Amino acid sequence: MGIVPYIYDMVQTISLPIPKVTQSREAESLRVSEIFFSLQGETSRSGLPTVFVRLTGCPLRCAYCDTDYAFYGGKRHSISDILAEVASYRACYVTVTGGEPLAQKECLLLLTLLCDAGYSVSLETSGALDISGVDDRVSRILDIKTPGSGEAAKNHWSNLQSLTSHDEVKFVLCDEADYQWALEVMHEHQLNLICPVLFSPVFDKLDPAMLAAWVLRDRIMVRVQIQLHKLLWGEGAGR
Ligand code: SF4
Repeated sequence: MGIVPYIYDMVQTISLPIPKVTQSREAESLRVSEIFFSLQGETSRSGLPTVFVRLTGCPLRCAYCDTDYAFYGGKRHSISDILAEVASYRACYVTVTGGEPLAQKECLLLLTLLCDAGYSVSLETSGALDISGVDDRVSRILDIKTPGSGEAAKNHWSNLQSLTSHDEVKFVLCDEADYQWALEVMHEHQLNLICPVLFSPVFDKLDPAMLAAWVLRDRIMVRVQIQLHKLLWGEGAGR
C-alpha cells in the first residue's frame, strides 16, 4: 500500500476525541498567530498533511527569519478552543511552531493535551530555550543556530543532552562557513548517532544544489531538505 492511501485511510478511520480539559486548565490560554492546514514542508514528515499551530512571539531575530509576522499580534485563545479548531481539520499530524512556541509556558500543556488526544505531534523550536519539560511523546525539531543566523550566542547547548531518537536537529545554513561550522558541531556532539540531522539552505540565499554537492563530497549522513511549502506556494503566511 502506498503512503497516500495509508494516510487517507487514517484520516477516514481515526476518530480524534477532543480531550476533557479540567476547569483550571480550561482557563489557560495562548497567544496564537495562526492555525492552518497544509503540507509539512520540512523534517522527515515532509509532505504529510498537517495542522499547524503557530504561536506568537520570539526572543530571537535571525537574519533570515521568514515568520517575522508572528513576532507580535495574534489573538489569545483558550487551550480548549485551540484543540477544537485542530480537531476540525480531522488530521493525524499536528506541528506546534512559531515564532518560538516555548516562549509561552502554556505551550507545554498544549503539547501534552494534543498527545493525549492521539495526534502525532512535533514541535519546532529555536534551540534557545530549555526543551527538557516537553512531553516525551512530542518529536522536538531543535534548531541549532549558526553564525550566519546572527543568533548563535543564544543556543541553549544543554538541550543536546535531552535529545532522543524521536527528535531531529536542524541547521539552517546561509553559506559554506555555516556548513563547515555545522559539520564541526555535528561531529563534536555525535548528533547523527542520536537522531536525524537536517541541513537546510536559506531560501534564495544558499543554492540547494551547492549544499547537496558539499554533502555528497564529504559523505556525511545528514538529510538535505528544501522547504517544500515554498516550492509549492512561495513565501507567505498560512502555508
Ligand atoms: S527563531 Fe525562528 S521565528 Fe524566531 S527569529 Fe529565528 S527564524 Fe524567526
